[in-house]
Amino acid sequence: MEKPFIEKRVLADQAKLDPEDWDVFRRSAHAMLEAAIDHMQRAEEGRVWTPFPEDMKVSLGVPVPQQPTDLDKVREQIETLLPYGVGNTHPRFFGWVHGSGSPGNLIAEIAASALNANLGGRDHGAIYVERQVVEWCRQIMRFPSSASGLIVTGTSMATVIALKIARDRALGWQSRSDGIGNTRLVGYTSEQTHSCVARAFDILGLGSAALRKVPTDADYRLDLNALEAALAADKASGLTPFTVIGTAGSVNVGSIDDLNTLSAICEKEGLWFHIDGAFGALGMLCDAVRPKLAGLEKADSVAFDFHKWMHVNYDAGCVLIRNKDEHLRTFSERPEYLKGKERGLAAGHPWPVDFGPELSRGFRALKVWTQIVEHGTTKLGNVVERNCDQAAYLGDLVSASNATELLAPVALNICCFRVVREGMVEQELDALNEEIVIRLQEEGTAAPSTTILRGRVAIRVNITNHRTRLQDMDVLFDRIVTLSGTEPHP
Ligand SMILES: *Cc1c(COP(=O)(O)O)cnc(C)c1O
Repeated sequence: MEKPFIEKRVLADQAKLDPEDWDVFRRSAHAMLEAAIDHMQRAEEGRVWTPFPEDMKVSLGVPVPQQPTDLDKVREQIETLLPYGVGNTHPRFFGWVHGSGSPGNLIAEIAASALNANLGGRDHGAIYVERQVVEWCRQIMRFPSSASGLIVTGTSMATVIALKIARDRALGWQSRSDGIGNTRLVGYTSEQTHSCVARAFDILGLGSAALRKVPTDADYRLDLNALEAALAADKASGLTPFTVIGTAGSVNVGSIDDLNTLSAICEKEGLWFHIDGAFGALGMLCDAVRPKLAGLEKADSVAFDFHKWMHVNYDAGCVLIRNKDEHLRTFSERPEYLKGKERGLAAGHPWPVDFGPELSRGFRALKVWTQIVEHGTTKLGNVVERNCDQAAYLGDLVSASNATELLAPVALNICCFRVVREGMVEQELDALNEEIVIRLQEEGTAAPSTTILRGRVAIRVNITNHRTRLQDMDVLFDRIVTLSGTEPHP
């Protein structure tokens, strides 16, 4: 039989995306590795944040490349990006909540990329690594052995997953096929909540207004009496409370809710108890913080990040669910071609796709596994403890000076304070403190951020950074006191 159009097809067969010359490729890859290691080795040097240059923004704006570019040229372009990160790898990055990353991840990422595994499911090594990481997390968080979990991008996604289970359970899982109709579910969290919780309510079709933001006490912890009152009022008006979201490490000040009492309230009321422990939950790694998290182990679900206080390079987070059956009931829905088999590559049920919204997923778990194995939980816990001590030290500096005042108790790893100046009204003080933070960022000395506490602008120093040393607190504080004499922008 004559084979159709064979010549044309043989020609097309030669086009592939592998290198023409592997030795050339090898040299380029090694050069990138060297540049990456140099970059990481110098993480403590120089400026914290350097703005991305205007000419580089412009030079990115080329039309879609239609022709190939030499890999060495591509690598050179990639290398020019390295100096322009957020600054979170530097020991004096204190803004928002960012982890500082670690070099060991580089090795894991290279291997993960080489493997190019899809962790939606199937029976292969990467799946077992992810399962083991989830199992370690279960042990760290002291969840029962019946718990399940998933490695995700971060706490935002973890929150959506956890609250979908809460929602579907509350609606008897009918919502999976019928939607939520005009059911009127409401949930509760503290006014110090992270915005991702309201976003999850929005995404899940409940509406962000269905999330009640309960006032906090003097220590920025959810006020339990106010919660009981809100629950009673909503029930009286015909609404259906379904969840309470406790905060273990609030993003503004690091406060930790009374998780034991919240758990008891949830049990009494039949509510799903979720915990946002994005960074704070990893306090479970150290003896100094673990007691403050008492009750975490009783939650129905907890969401937390590896990329914050465990310094896994972006991005990686986790959701743990106490009841594996409810977890599966919420997400598992296998079409015929994905049905689990007993043998062969399609075995190993249940798969990660049965525990979350994504089918194709990368091998994030490998860098988490690497981090835990390389450093061990004792050392990782010591970093957490040291950061808390550094925040407390900064708090002491602030309290001892006439130029500054503390705006919230230092509960964990965050110190919120402001510069005060004789004769300035509140509005001027707000502007002055904003200005000081921008100056610190622009001059490259340090990168704290600001927040609003009880209506006042605070300089917010968050320390989730294994490179920070006590003397960085002195550098930061001395510079802030010096800058306290500056004039705010008009
Ligand atoms: C960072 C953070 C989140 C969101 O986590 P992502 O990993 O950024 O999605 C939620 N809650 C708290 C308290 C956080 O600090």
